[in-house]
Amino acid sequence: MPIKLPSFRGRRDTYPPDLWTKCPSCGEMLFNKQLDKVDRVCPNCGHHFRLSARARLDLLLDRDSFHERDEGLQSLDPLGFVDQKPYPDRIAAAQVATGMRDAAVWGMGTIEGRQVAICVMDFAFMGGSMGSVVGEKVTRAAETALELRIPLIVVSASGGARMQEGTLALMQLAKTVAALERLRAEGVPYVSILTDPTTGGVFASYAALGDVNLAEPNALIGFAGARVSAGTIASELPEGFQRSEFLFRHGFVDRVVHRSELRAEVATLLRFLEPVIFEEAGVEAATVPAFRPLSFLSSLAERVSDLAASEGDGRTPTNGRPAAPSTPASSSAPASSSTTLGPARARPSRPPGDQPEQSPSGAPAPAKEPARSRGQRDG
Ligand SMILES: [Zn+2]
Repeated sequence: MPIKLPSFRGRRDTYPPDLWTKCPSCGEMLFNKQLDKVDRVCPNCGHHFRLSARARLDLLLDRDSFHERDEGLQSLDPLGFVDQKPYPDRIAAAQVATGMRDAAVWGMGTIEGRQVAICVMDFAFMGGSMGSVVGEKVTRAAETALELRIPLIVVSASGGARMQEGTLALMQLAKTVAALERLRAEGVPYVSILTDPTTGGVFASYAALGDVNLAEPNALIGFAGARVSAGTIASELPEGFQRSEFLFRHGFVDRVVHRSELRAEVATLLRFLEPVIFEEAGVEAATVPAFRPLSFLSSLAERVSDLAASEGDGRTPTNGRPAAPSTPASSSAPASSSTTLGPARARPSRPPGDQPEQSPSGAPAPAKEPARSRGQRDG
């Protein structure tokens, strides 16, 4: 509902920022308390304002179910980094401004009664930049999810790696991705939620690797900035470049979800994404078939070789690997879940009953993995 100023009050250009927020999309003046009640989505045009980590946890989790872990983790200043001011001063200022120790919090909570490990980022803390603390929290959340075999949820809001920590910040890409890879190999689900903005090293590591990647509407999502990208390829970028809807159309995001439906959406996904219990199924824990960050390139290579193979001798493509007996079953997916999820295309990675089948050698069927990553990434 639009909020009109009283007519007797002269229009001003500035309003007390703690009371009013101007919607950057439609220009409407919004009363902050009102805005908080609607989860900071503009009632006039649907613009999604950024959420604090606390508000995000309240939005997603069952009431009072969150228990923070590792709240004492704090960045050191290993490089003695100084730009306009020393790095420790910058951290201290951000801590005072946000009441947080660093740009992420993680802990345990429940969503509709289902326990999850959740890590949430806050853009207000130094642009949500990922230093060693953020990387460590994402990693510990992933390791705990693996240990307890519960789903992992990470909500990203970040400008990328924290330059004040230099290489140590870049190391977090490898560290978080390695932890997520173990999670994937063990069949524990991971839902990534991308909010405005998710860019740089965060997008290039854990944010893009969810079994299901959800995004909020019109969120800025990408690796390099639009100007850099345009300069690199020396041509104009298409309309809406690096926005959620654009990424959805091009297969990088599985679904764009309005904030008001986000909790229900995650809860629905978690009902389908059951962690695989390999012991019960009598199957050995999946060996790591491929390093998934490389799967973009390798799946591209596979597609090319598939094409070459099918054109060459008319065989069914087998990705250059021995065809497993389970190939048709895995590609036809569970009919029940895909009909329920409809256009979400959020096919559960390993739904109950769809355990990796054994090939004659005793190892899990190798054809499984390519089929899955394609289903997730394609159109
Ligand atoms: Zn608006």
